[in-house]
Amino acid sequence: MPDIPATSREWHLVARPEGWPKPQDFALREAPVIEPGPGQILVRNIYLSVDPYMRGRMNDVKSYLPPYGLDRPMDGGAVGEVVASNAEGFAVGDHVVHNDGWREYARVPAEQAVKADPDLAPLSAYLGVLGMPGLTAYAGLLRSAEFTEGDAVFVSGAAGAVGSEVGQIARLKGASRVVGSAGSDEKVRVLVEEYGFDAAFNYKSGPVAEQLALAAPGGIDVYFDNVGGEHLEAALERLNLHGRVAACGMIAQYNSTEPPPAPHNLALIVGKRLRIQGLLVLDHFDLREQFVTEVSAWIRDGSLRYDETVVKGVEHAVDAFLGMLRGANTGKMLVSLGD
Ligand code: NAP
Repeated sequence: MPDIPATSREWHLVARPEGWPKPQDFALREAPVIEPGPGQILVRNIYLSVDPYMRGRMNDVKSYLPPYGLDRPMDGGAVGEVVASNAEGFAVGDHVVHNDGWREYARVPAEQAVKADPDLAPLSAYLGVLGMPGLTAYAGLLRSAEFTEGDAVFVSGAAGAVGSEVGQIARLKGASRVVGSAGSDEKVRVLVEEYGFDAAFNYKSGPVAEQLALAAPGGIDVYFDNVGGEHLEAALERLNLHGRVAACGMIAQYNSTEPPPAPHNLALIVGKRLRIQGLLVLDHFDLREQFVTEVSAWIRDGSLRYDETVVKGVEHAVDAFLGMLRGANTGKMLVSLGD
């Protein structure tokens, strides 16, 4: 295997975090790079994805995905170049998206790799705006929340990978009003001035319920929940009759060691005939082709914008992950390993 190093670096979880993860919970270790076996490809990763769901996988609890093993390489979304192939249909030089991230080189079963065309979109987009977070936004808004033209939409985590796309898809599909919340004044500016939200607020500047009431005086029909807690409580208050909630994530509690204090107003669900629909992107891969076609056209004609926050170097992958949990990102948080 020419130009392929004998070893590559990979991140292991070495301790299960209590509350906020610490750098000492992770270790960057060397592992041999092994030639691909039958039906496998060897991929040099170019971008790694760091995502909120990975925090849940650091706990030893049963969930929709298995916990990360201790002293084992972590996995997650990645995009890279095939450098050796022992699988039909994949050639050296192809680009692929796969799930063996958190490492420099990955030996991937071919059936777990999907080709990515760098001429159609930058490779990083396949982990964000045209990848898993984008599909979450698309399916969550259009299918789980049953968005229809004229709905007023509120999305939390609105400057992140999923949220920024939810708000823009709602706008492009004819929402009567799009409101977002985010954790800094600069993010609020981006939401309104660059993504075309009608209103946005900084949830750290005052009570969410008060700020939402001002931003959505006519109420909301859809709440796309990325945050939970106080945001969900405020949204239940503001939802109109027959309103819908797409429960996508509850990042406000991912590092809590105590149960969340809110919402206290769940009884509103009855009187307003609200519907709360849990959403997992894994259930919506059938929409992928339609999603990529529609969203890539909006990107090409400039009607949908996206940001990426890119941290350079595999040695900084944990910093990128922790930074994302703290809100250091606008749009998708990625780790670049070089072209
Ligand atoms: P992201 O929004 O790009 O990054 C996470 C953001 O969460 C941070 O930038 C930070 O922004 C915000 N945040 C952190 N702590 C917060 C808190 N206590 N209160 C409010 N906001 C907080 O991440 P993403 O990948 O797009 O994911 C967004 C949500 O969707 C997460 O809840 C994730 O678990 C969920 N998700 C679910 C699925 C699914 O299939 N159900 C798939 C993908 C993602 P601020 O500066 O605004 O605080």
